[in-house]
Amino acid sequence: MSAAVAKPIVFHPGRSSGDLAARLSRAVAGDVLFDAGSRGRYATDASIYQIEPVGVLVPKSADDVRAAIAICGEQGVPVLARGAGSSQCGQTVGAALVIDHSKHLSRINGFDRDAMTVGVEPGVVLDRLNAWLKPHGLWFPVDVSTSAQATLGGMAGNNSCGSRSIAYGNMVHNVLAIDATLSDGTEARFGPEREMGAAPPRVGELLRGLRAIGAREHDEIERNVPKVLRRVGGYNIDVCCPQSERPYTADESVNYAHLLVGSEGTLAWMRELTLKLAPLPAHRTLGVVNFPTLYKAMENARHLVALRPSAVELVDRTMIDLARGNPAFRAVIDRALIGEPDAILLVEFIGDTREDPLRRLRDLVALMGDLGLPGSVVEMTDAGAQRALWEVRKAGLNIMMSLKGDGKPVSFIEDCAVPLPHLAEYVDRLTQVFARHGTRGTWYAHASVGTLHVRPILDMRRDGAAKMRAIAEEASAMVRQYKGAFSGEHGDGLVRSEWVGWQFGPRLSRAFEEIKDLFDPAGLMNPGKIVRGTRMDDASLFRFPPGHRTQPLETALDWSAWDVQNDAVTGALSPPGTGGDPAQGFGKAVEMCNNNGHCRKFDAGTMCPSYRATRDERHLTRGRANTLRLALSGRFGPDALASEPVRAALDLCVSCKGCRRECPTGVDMAKMKIEALHQRQRTHGLPFRDRLIAHLPRWAPWAARVPWLANLRDTLPGAAKLSETWLGFSAQRSLPAWRRDTFLRRASAEREGTAANAEVVLFVDTFTNYFDPENADAAIKVLDAAGYRVHVARADGADTDPSRPLCCGRTYLAAGLVDEAKAEARRVVDALLPHVERGAAIVGLEPSCLLSLRDEFLVMGLGEAAQRLSENAFLIEEFLAREHRAGRLELPLVALPQTRALLHPHCHQKAFDAVAPLQQVLALIPGLAVEMVEASCCGMAGSFGYDAAHYDVSVRMAELALLPAVRAAAPDTLIVADGTSCRHQIADLTRGAGARDAIHVVRVLERALGR
Ligand SMILES: Cc1cc2nc3c(=O)[nH]c(=O)nc-3n(C[C@H](O)[C@H](O)[C@H](O)COP(=O)(O)OP(=O)(O)OC[C@H]3O[C@@H](n4cnc5c(N)ncnc54)[C@H](O)[C@@H]3O)c2cc1C
Ligand code: SF4
Ligand code: SF4
Repeated sequence: MSAAVAKPIVFHPGRSSGDLAARLSRAVAGDVLFDAGSRGRYATDASIYQIEPVGVLVPKSADDVRAAIAICGEQGVPVLARGAGSSQCGQTVGAALVIDHSKHLSRINGFDRDAMTVGVEPGVVLDRLNAWLKPHGLWFPVDVSTSAQATLGGMAGNNSCGSRSIAYGNMVHNVLAIDATLSDGTEARFGPEREMGAAPPRVGELLRGLRAIGAREHDEIERNVPKVLRRVGGYNIDVCCPQSERPYTADESVNYAHLLVGSEGTLAWMRELTLKLAPLPAHRTLGVVNFPTLYKAMENARHLVALRPSAVELVDRTMIDLARGNPAFRAVIDRALIGEPDAILLVEFIGDTREDPLRRLRDLVALMGDLGLPGSVVEMTDAGAQRALWEVRKAGLNIMMSLKGDGKPVSFIEDCAVPLPHLAEYVDRLTQVFARHGTRGTWYAHASVGTLHVRPILDMRRDGAAKMRAIAEEASAMVRQYKGAFSGEHGDGLVRSEWVGWQFGPRLSRAFEEIKDLFDPAGLMNPGKIVRGTRMDDASLFRFPPGHRTQPLETALDWSAWDVQNDAVTGALSPPGTGGDPAQGFGKAVEMCNNNGHCRKFDAGTMCPSYRATRDERHLTRGRANTLRLALSGRFGPDALASEPVRAALDLCVSCKGCRRECPTGVDMAKMKIEALHQRQRTHGLPFRDRLIAHLPRWAPWAARVPWLANLRDTLPGAAKLSETWLGFSAQRSLPAWRRDTFLRRASAEREGTAANAEVVLFVDTFTNYFDPENADAAIKVLDAAGYRVHVARADGADTDPSRPLCCGRTYLAAGLVDEAKAEARRVVDALLPHVERGAAIVGLEPSCLLSLRDEFLVMGLGEAAQRLSENAFLIEEFLAREHRAGRLELPLVALPQTRALLHPHCHQKAFDAVAPLQQVLALIPGLAVEMVEASCCGMAGSFGYDAAHYDVSVRMAELALLPAVRAAAPDTLIVADGTSCRHQIADLTRGAGARDAIHVVRVLERALGR
């Protein structure tokens, strides 16, 4: 590959960085972030690269951006626009002032239902736009996989393409106009040529220059611009002489907005985009074609496309197996299979009438018969089944991305586009190339347009760079031979700008440079992308550059499961603890974050409540993982995890474990926070308030003896205010009330039950015992009624303090006091294991306590005993649902006076798949309709919401969805919440008129016993 490459652009901020920050702070209303933590967090995207920006601006308005562009222009500092930062090629990585639109520049303007157009600011997220459009029967159909986080500005910047591009085209086909600001401050609306007559003189001159280049290079454009739909590399110089299979405009007229689409922020800043909308498809069908080989599937893709489907997506054998290995997906994928296919193609048809897509599905079945594969199509007409299968395809990719070890699937030829007649041969030959380089790739995605995704597994800290280049060279030769596009979806960025010259030839490369210089003569808009790019394998720009070292760390928790290496060909992992991580596996656990940005999603699920409340990158799972990674690499000094940037990044993490389940690569920030807090308290000690909360299980027995005294804080006027001043407990909060009638003081250890059913051990946690003992009473009644012999868990007789109640140690974990938590966990294991050995189930009530037996207990070095306990520890609803499924549950339940229940599951229940059992046991109550609140964390999260410093954000979290749903519920609706903090949050924030109380599910069951 002989293309000319530039040296990396390095901006040395020196003194001027401080000047810049000061000037910006004076000129803008948004946040100016020049601290090391912020710069580190904005140094990466979903690529393999890392370059520290000069600083970050989170603008409040377009005026802020205008001011920043002007100041940067004067100081000669590059600017880099950024949305979600989910680019895979390093587009948003650079030594520049990064301008993050995603927080504030997210207004939807100028909607015209009849014309089917809408204006959006660049920070609007695609899913949000589509949710907004849905009631109007419209959508923006460029359905990228990252729709939950990708912004329209970023999508335009990258000329993004969705799964259904064969029906709707790429971004370039769906943008009508762009209001833009040039680096010299000139503003104009770029759109159809005929509408640009009144453009400012500077823009008029620019357009004349563009026309001259277009006319001069006409022949070269025809010769060298690939004639495929999926070509997103270089500039869209073919606006003037269309080359795409699908012209950018219906009448092939020139629209200058299309030149900005795909320009990766290198030409202008896009202030507002005018988008073309499409009607929401009224009906869909899905045909799943089963193929005996991947080659056959690829060979047939072109025939399937002739049926005019809206998508043809590939799922290969590896992904089928990954899905089948997951109990949640096995049934769904099995429904799509006929025998043991090597690959399946998901062929979707859409239509306005019910009959149209059905007819085309029948055509597909007939076609496969004609092609020699009769009986190979699974017909899916049910919308639910179709959705479930699309989810499987996404999840399979996620599992692949979660490969532990230093070898990772690397995106650099992930989106080459090849004309369909050559697809099979391309896949076959590239698979052989991978094998020759000692790696492999899993194939998936957009067979309809010849853009198959594949990421060979490479170790970018060792020989990955050399292999990347070698594989890229061979892949590019094939792409050239087949007249395809090297960049068919993800753009150029740092990994492929070097290849622009290769793809388009020297003349067009020079023309691209001229275009860049016409727009941005000073070269300040995202330099080094598309033109004058750096080498893809310049390791100094890698996230793990040569010399990268992880600082040694003696961890409190066991992270050895992450301290492994993988075999690039088989995927097999080395034994735990053999990965060579000086941080005993914690470093590699942190590095699992590949920056895909999925934690920025807002729609369903839990992840990430603090980001949802603040929209700050710092308060995002990704921001936290990056902060920890940088800390471990020494970026914040020798203190690493005890450093201030780490404290600040973790401060608003509510340890909801949402990321543990929802992050595609399984980043478990709640656990990481325990480790980081442990390291911090070792260096800095613990503030008194935190110690007080952590040791609550120790002093609780005393408080319960004199509850009137312990409750003075909420009964004595002025005491709450004092508690805020002295201890930091928010005066706006009531604290949980101490009780004398604690459960364990009253309960006898052994209860006989009413029948000879199985034995159950009730683990009563600290919170239930002292604050909500009626929940434990209810549990006894329910289990009694179902005929179980209930044993109340007590400390082992050999315990040093046998009279002290058992405790899971959660309050200690929340403070990072891991040794103390381990001591508590050991008591629990010692006390409960004998029951487990006898075959008894351990049943608990408080999700965060009981589920720690299945989570943190396993990384505390408690050995096989903890493992055995974890396999037999259940929330009461899990236990009852299991018994019901097994036909062993006889619970005589009657209808309640209430007919509706609103269910708010605790975040840890969601993280451990324990929501369905809740719904199942509530469904046992005759006539009770249950609705679930689609909310993230309630915002109380243990002691988080009681902290004066967290009060506001805690309320904001609750107000996002939970509280509006509670307030909207009819007064006689039961509000069900198993978490003690969730219940307290609901009660606390609905005090006064319209007060609502939530209750534990077991108390709902108790009421339905009707006794
Ligand atoms: C797991 C995964 C799956 C993906 N799937 C797809 C897919 O299906 N299809 C697809 O096309 N891509 C896909 N991508 C790539 C990426 O998500 C998309 O390109 C996405 O549209 C980028 O949006 P963003 O908001 O993250 O943009 P960013 O990454 O923040 O920015 C993208 C580019 O746009 C520029 N930009 C942003 N805002 C402006 C502005 N206001 N003015 C000027 N320039 C601006 C930036 O400078 C940058 O060059 C995927 C990425 C990942 C990690
Ligand atoms: S934390 Fe997980 S979801 Fe968030 S960017 Fe990292 S890998 Fe993606
Ligand atoms: S544990 Fe919850 S709050 Fe913390 S990073 Fe994960 S999703 Fe966000």
